[in-house]
Formats: sequence, structure tokens, C-alpha cells
Amino acid sequence: MSDCLFCRMVAGDIPADVVHETDRVFAFRDINPQAPTHVLVIPKEHHATVGALVAADVGLLGEVVAGAQAVALQEGLVTDGGAEPGYRLVTNTGPQAGQSVHHVHFHVLGGRRMEWPPG
Ligand code: 5GP
Ligand code: ZN
Repeated sequence: MSDCLFCRMVAGDIPADVVHETDRVFAFRDINPQAPTHVLVIPKEHHATVGALVAADVGLLGEVVAGAQAVALQEGLVTDGGAEPGYRLVTNTGPQAGQSVHHVHFHVLGGRRMEWPPG
């Protein structure tokens, strides 16, 4: 989609600080980080929400989550087979959750202690 910010980043039209990439998955640092590590993991193919992605290609959803885990390993948020110090994986759907970019993305957040429940 030519009018989608994240599609334009995948295409290389808008610069991205890329930290992980496969043939179908793309991960880059958030421009407005909310934690010492704040990376967005997306499918290269455009899907607006996680619901749309799971309906279209559940395997691709798995690849995106695998990409998030790869980023967490790379950033030292967990070790292979371990869960410490840990990270949060978030996807916002719709206005009440605060979704502002309508290309599904998972936030990988880590490097500080996080509150629960979120605000
Ligand atoms: P949402 O609010 O939809 O869950 O998350 C959208 C995220 O995209 C926000 O955390 C925001 O900071 C990030 N973002 C918006 N525009 C850009 C951009 O141009 N570059 C990067 N790297 N991140 C962006
Ligand atoms: Zn898109």
C-alpha cells in the first residue's frame, strides 16, 4: 500500500533503523521509544490489524512472533531458552487501544521494569 507508512519503510522509501529482517518479516526501532529497547516487528505484507493477519495467514503471524523473540534475544532481553530479564510484546487494535498506524505491528519493549496493568 503506497500510502501506508510501514509499507513505505519496508520498500525503503522512508528510512528505518532495521534490527532484524527475514523474507517476510521486518523489525525496526520505534521513533519515539517508550523503553530502552522499543522495536516494532511487522509482516512485510500489509495487513491492518492482528485480526486481519490471523485471518489471512496464521503462519505469517507465527513468523512475526518468532521475529519478536529473535529481536529480544539479540537485544539481550532474554537468553536462549530463558525468560530473564524479560520483555513485553504488545499489539494495539483499534482506537480504544491506541492503534495509530494501520499496518499490524508488535511492540517489543524491554530494558526497564514495566507496570501491570498498563494505563
Ligand atoms: P501504535 O500506536 O499504532 O500501537 O504504534 C505505532 C508506533 O509507531 C508508535 O510507537 C510510534 O512511535 C511509531 N512510529 C510512528 N511513526 C514512525 C516512524 O516514522 N518511524 C518509526 N520508526 N516509528 C514510528
Ligand atoms: Zn502497510
